[in-house]
Amino acid sequence: MTARPNRPIYLDNQATTACDPRVLAVMLPFFTERFGNPHSAEHAMGRDAEQEVETARARIAALIGADPREIILTSGATESNNIAIKGAARFALRHDNPRRRIVTVATEHKCVLESVNDLAAEGFEPVILPVRTDGLLDPAVLEAALTVPTLLVSVMAVNNEIGVVQDLAALSAIAHTAGALFHTDAAQGFGKIPLDVAAQGIDLMSISGHKIYGPKGVGALYVRRRPRVRLAPLFSGGGQERGLRSGTLATPLIAGLGEAARIARAEMAEDAARIAALRDRFAARVAASVSGIAFNGSLRARIPGNLNLTFPEGDAQAIMRAAPELCVSTGSACSSAEVEPSYVLKALGLSDDRAARTLRIGIGRFTSPAEIDAAADMLIAAHHTATKG
Ligand SMILES: *Cc1c(COP(=O)(O)O)cnc(C)c1O
Repeated sequence: MTARPNRPIYLDNQATTACDPRVLAVMLPFFTERFGNPHSAEHAMGRDAEQEVETARARIAALIGADPREIILTSGATESNNIAIKGAARFALRHDNPRRRIVTVATEHKCVLESVNDLAAEGFEPVILPVRTDGLLDPAVLEAALTVPTLLVSVMAVNNEIGVVQDLAALSAIAHTAGALFHTDAAQGFGKIPLDVAAQGIDLMSISGHKIYGPKGVGALYVRRRPRVRLAPLFSGGGQERGLRSGTLATPLIAGLGEAARIARAEMAEDAARIAALRDRFAARVAASVSGIAFNGSLRARIPGNLNLTFPEGDAQAIMRAAPELCVSTGSACSSAEVEPSYVLKALGLSDDRAARTLRIGIGRFTSPAEIDAAADMLIAAHHTATKG
């Protein structure tokens, strides 16, 4: 995709990504002539849709080293996180498993934090762990939390605001030693960094379509088969998806997620190298003109496409208003309507004042070098406008 004149420059790829044109092409026939119900196995059109769903399921599984039968298709990572966390808890409760503690991290997405907190009303004990100033969970802190019998540990693969990558293999080993299940919200990691459910000891993994150049409204949950992870479903219905997610599958969206996963698997390394170079170029250009810029989150353990930067002065909202052609954000899309400081940045120890001077930059597959240079210059000018006088 070339730079689009007179259009905003989009640097908010952690909020959502553009649908890849190749994904759209795969989806379109399933909105039109190939409209069969994938559960209508009795006739040719149903089987055609079913076959596409199974192709997509295999492509999703291949990207994380899973068996296709371990992939449950959902409406997105929010739903997957709810099924994983509440489903594991409710199954345990119904089967007299005495473990009641559920452990997660302060920087998780709201849908994980709220799922864990909601379980307090059902007799569970939510434990929200702090992170270090670099945004990573200290393994010793997790270990200490697991001295009380724990049902589930949920730690995200990649943070949506600061882009840091948690050491899932080390953390899952600690969870398993304590007899707990290990779930990861991989909405920002799937298709961006190598993930392998066996090597990383993951029992449950949540996936979203629209963070990897697929459509919105579709996602998946990986559920380990050996040893089998048992969940109680959230929906009652026809028992689709091994009884875990009733409802007619969204064939067009699932086909799109499958294609997005196929492309990510083929192009992940190439995308990562190109995007990392663009990120470094952007950071250098801004830092050369605005002295005293600080970057938040580990600079070592992070995805290539994210920068979280704090200006030495000037309010981030005012800077954004001064650059209306630039799409960046002050935090996660869910909480940025409120002008409250980001809870993720506060968990890193940033003051309200520093958090209010912070912007998230999300670079993606379709960002061009020309857009990077123009965006950096727009931001520099906006910072100047917002801070002069
Ligand atoms: C976007 C996102 C979600 C929510 O995914 P949806 O598919 O939009 O429901 C959950 N967790 C993280 C880390 C995200 O970035």
